[in-house]
Amino acid sequence: MVTRADIGVIGGSGLYSLLDDATEVEVTTPYGPPSDVITVGRIGSRPVAFVPRHGRDHRFPPHRIPYRANLWALRSLGVRQVLAPSAVGSLRPEIGPGALVVPDQIIDRTSGRTQTFYDSDGVVHVSFADPYCPIGRATAVATARSGGWPLVDGGTLVVIEGPRFSSRAESRWFSANGWTIVGMTGFPESVLARELAMCYTSLSLVTDHDAGVEAGEGVTHEEVLAFFATNVTRMRSLVADVVTALPDERTCPCPGTLDGLKIPFDLPE
Ligand SMILES: [Zn+2]
Repeated sequence: MVTRADIGVIGGSGLYSLLDDATEVEVTTPYGPPSDVITVGRIGSRPVAFVPRHGRDHRFPPHRIPYRANLWALRSLGVRQVLAPSAVGSLRPEIGPGALVVPDQIIDRTSGRTQTFYDSDGVVHVSFADPYCPIGRATAVATARSGGWPLVDGGTLVVIEGPRFSSRAESRWFSANGWTIVGMTGFPESVLARELAMCYTSLSLVTDHDAGVEAGEGVTHEEVLAFFATNVTRMRSLVADVVTALPDERTCPCPGTLDGLKIPFDLPE
C-alpha cells in the first residue's frame, strides 16, 4: 500500500481513475483540512498523491479553495513536484479550445486570498521571477508535443478572482497586454508551492475564448464544464504521461528556494 508520494496532482475529479492501488489518506494541516481526502496510489511505478482542487463534490468555488491546506498536505505526504491541470480561457484568437498551454509567467489579479504561509513571525521573501519549475515545464512540453497536442510552450496566465468571468473590457485589456490565457485557480496555488520549495507546473487546457476575443455572448459555466468533460480522457492520459516522464531527482532551482532564508516553522517532511 502506498501512503507517500513525491509527485502530487491538483486537479479535477475526473482524474481519480489515474491511480492504481489507490488509498485514501486523511491529512490535517495547520491551515485546516484540504479540499478533500487525498488519494495516494501509483501511475506506473511512480507513487502519486491526488487532491481534487474543488473537492470531490465540487463544493469549493475558486476563491474558497483551501489552497494553503492543499499544498501543505501534499508536502506532508512527501510531495515535492506538483502538476496542476486546469481549465482556462484563451486571450488570443489563434489559440482555440482543445489547446494545451504550459505557461511560463503569471499575473495575479486575485484579491482577498491568503497568498502566503509566512504571515506571522519574521519576513520571508521568496523569488517568484520565474513562477514555474523549468524542468516540469520542459517535461510537460515534450510530453504534450510527442502526444500530438496543439501546444503553446510558454505564455502568461492571468488569474482573476472570480467566480464571475471577465468583462469584455477586462478581457480586451488582458489581451492588449500580451497575456495568453485567463483562469481562476493558478494563484495563489503556484506561489504557495514555491514557498514550500516544491516544483509547480501548470497544464492549462483551453476550453473557450474569453469574452474579449469572441464575438458571441461570452462564455457560460455550462460550456466550460461540457468542454472539460469531453476532454477528461485526453487530460488524464497527458497527466499520466507527464508523471511517468518527470525525473526522479530534482536538478531544478526549486529545492533551493528557501536556502539562506529564516523560516519561522519546520516544513512538513
Ligand atoms: Zn522544480
